[in-house]
Amino acid sequence: MIQPRPFKFVCPQCGYSKVVKPKSDALSLLDMMNICPKCQTKMEHKEINAFDLFISIFK
Ligand SMILES: [Zn+2]
Repeated sequence: MIQPRPFKFVCPQCGYSKVVKPKSDALSLLDMMNICPKCQTKMEHKEINAFDLFISIFK
């Protein structure tokens, strides 16, 4: 079984970003999580890169 790839949400307003590692059964939940906690702007879905993945391990 293929694991879902992690991705991140980036707020275009204030630059807040959040790395998300989806579980296969939680995709509908993610749609409700993409509001920026700082400014309530809808965040953009971005592909994660190796650097982001590396950083996320230490958070
Ligand atoms: Zn924001």
